[in-house]
Amino acid sequence: MISFPERLNLAQTPTPFQLLERVSRELKVNVWMKRDDLTGITLSGNKVRKLEFTLAKAIAEGCDSIITCGGLQSNHCRATAYACAQLGLKCSLVLRGTTDEAAEGNLFMDQLAGANITTYAAGHYARNLPQLLREKAEQLTREGMKPYIIPTGASDGTGIWGYIAAVQELSEDFKRNKIDPTHIVCATGSGGTQAGLTLGCELMALDTSVIGFAVCDDEAYFQNKVRADVRQWIDLYGHCIDVDTLPVVVNDNYIGPGYARADSCVFETIAWLAKTEGIVLDPVYTGKAFYGLIEEIRSGRMSRAKDIVFVHTGGIFGVFPQRSGFSF
Ligand SMILES: *Cc1c(COP(=O)(O)O)cnc(C)c1O
Repeated sequence: MISFPERLNLAQTPTPFQLLERVSRELKVNVWMKRDDLTGITLSGNKVRKLEFTLAKAIAEGCDSIITCGGLQSNHCRATAYACAQLGLKCSLVLRGTTDEAAEGNLFMDQLAGANITTYAAGHYARNLPQLLREKAEQLTREGMKPYIIPTGASDGTGIWGYIAAVQELSEDFKRNKIDPTHIVCATGSGGTQAGLTLGCELMALDTSVIGFAVCDDEAYFQNKVRADVRQWIDLYGHCIDVDTLPVVVNDNYIGPGYARADSCVFETIAWLAKTEGIVLDPVYTGKAFYGLIEEIRSGRMSRAKDIVFVHTGGIFGVFPQRSGFSF
């Protein structure tokens, strides 16, 4: 039995678990999907699972305002803004990038939720993020608030509990469907989802290989990041795991032109899945990962695979700002 720390109830769980019938027939292997795009509407996607633990910790520490960070179209920032609005916490977002255009997608949703938003040019943000977060915290403290800083993607020793809990849910899904999947696949961006899934499989002794398809940074980066999150989890909660032997599998061959920039094959994959199964992926995360998975299967590099589980981590608001990428 895993003993979980305090958590809030924010996500609509358990999320559905389904076989993609037509995709499976076409690829000649069973592809299942964990519908974490359905954890909610405004509070949708994978970040909600992590925020259940992260925000519980912030509230337990007596904090009344949350600061977090990400790109202009960050799903994590949007989910945080809505969770804060639901909990009566003040939310401040430090965002990477500037735009002259009217707010779209997640950025528009952030505004709608009343988040305090500060944007910085990408280079300045990359060089100074810790300082920018600290300055925002100091400002809120001067105003008499008690701020809590959530790192990018809520990926840290606390946030990863969300995907340890998701593995518990998945193991029930597997039992119910009488399957014993060889692979669990997810998009990996700040590493916390992969860290939680990998650790969860280890704790529950599931003989399943977790593969993270990188959407930015390379394999070495995620090898370090996933292990760093797990080490922090060990320090905070005192569990005993050999981090060095933890199997961290990263595929960085499908990043394409860069973070939040996708090739036409990704847009074609999104359109294909929408009409084949009625499920919408996004061009920043899930579309890239699903395209990568299909390519790996088609090229025979996953020949050992029997049942494959794709974790749909959400991202639908990221589709709208990139609609020009679709050709129809
Ligand atoms: C953040 C995000 C991911 C990546 O999860 P990490 O835990 O940051 O690696 C994948 N898909 C979507 C839609 C996301 O918003």
